Amino acid sequence: MTIPTENVGSLPRPAKLQAAIADYDAGKITHEELKHEQDDACRDSIERMEATGSPIVSDGEQRASSFATYPIVDTLAGTGLAPNLAADGQYFAIFTDGHHRQLPRLTGGPFKYKTYAADYLKESIKLATKPMKQAVIAPSMLSLLYPLDGAIEGYSREQFLEDLCNECEKDIREAFAAGAKRVSIDFTEGRLACKNDPRNPWTGRKMLEHFVELNNRVIDRFSAEERKNIGIHTCPGGDCDSTHSADVDYAEMLPSMFKMNAGYFLIQLASEQDKERVYKLCGEQSRADANGVPQVCFIGVINPLNPTVETPEQVRDDLVTAAKYIPVERLGSTDDCGFSPFSVDVKPKHGSPDVARDIAFQKIAARVKGTAMASEILGVA
Ligand SMILES: [Zn+2]
Repeated sequence: MTIPTENVGSLPRPAKLQAAIADYDAGKITHEELKHEQDDACRDSIERMEATGSPIVSDGEQRASSFATYPIVDTLAGTGLAPNLAADGQYFAIFTDGHHRQLPRLTGGPFKYKTYAADYLKESIKLATKPMKQAVIAPSMLSLLYPLDGAIEGYSREQFLEDLCNECEKDIREAFAAGAKRVSIDFTEGRLACKNDPRNPWTGRKMLEHFVELNNRVIDRFSAEERKNIGIHTCPGGDCDSTHSADVDYAEMLPSMFKMNAGYFLIQLASEQDKERVYKLCGEQSRADANGVPQVCFIGVINPLNPTVETPEQVRDDLVTAAKYIPVERLGSTDDCGFSPFSVDVKPKHGSPDVARDIAFQKIAARVKGTAMASEILGVA
């Protein structure tokens, strides 16, 4: 056994692909032409991620509008919005640099995905020689499609949540059926739920426990054996090199997060002020037995929002410190977040998305190397 290492999911889309998305929204190119650019970007992402030495890779979500909206819309500008949705929904998040991202709004039932993560994976897995992972969106995030107050006539909140859970379950099962070795559920709204931001009303409704219960409604449909390979990702957001909830104390969130019966957790940590305190919290709050699976804590050792490349030695040292608090058989390493969860992202601190891609692969290589060094020191190589 060595210490496992795994990315979250996304990579910056090349500038050429981002231009093609804009051209597609403007009606200047066909879907076929857009798909050609997506195919190129997926191929490049997989080849370069494999070259880092990573034992598991993703396609960098190059075909997805975003980590949260891929099931319901083709582009962030709203092209290809699924039925029963309007563009003007709740803020998903307001980021510290002042920009925001908005979700669509449900206008009626039934709620159905138009795209499953497996639809993308089936294309990408043909390009890979190493095992692939797939990220999917949590039911808790998509539950925000339903208006916060009141009800949609003819489509109750409970009926919506039942449809939503069925779609999320199908998303995970189809990803495994398409060949994913691991499936991680993006749960960035968990930490944001602890922040009371009056500009973004849902954050003030103490929804964390509800989110955890809703996600468990899906996770508990899987066997312990399946849940070993079902993860949860937590972070304070990561879009345009900015965060949305880094000021929320992890102590408010982690005890609830570990109630989810997932087998592993991809936890933003490299950019935390006091990492050792959070390692300790993870050691105390994660469970050796979550209804039949041990909860493995993948600690973030790479900050995708900062262009400075971490050294393998820094990665090694973080893991060795974390092992003081988290049993080594339940320890892994990851990046703090995807490198570009939203398709349109100029990566301002990096200068350009193409530079940010080069840096991302250097960072992943450092994570892989540093994790191997830590495995040696901790006697699990
Ligand atoms: Zn994230």
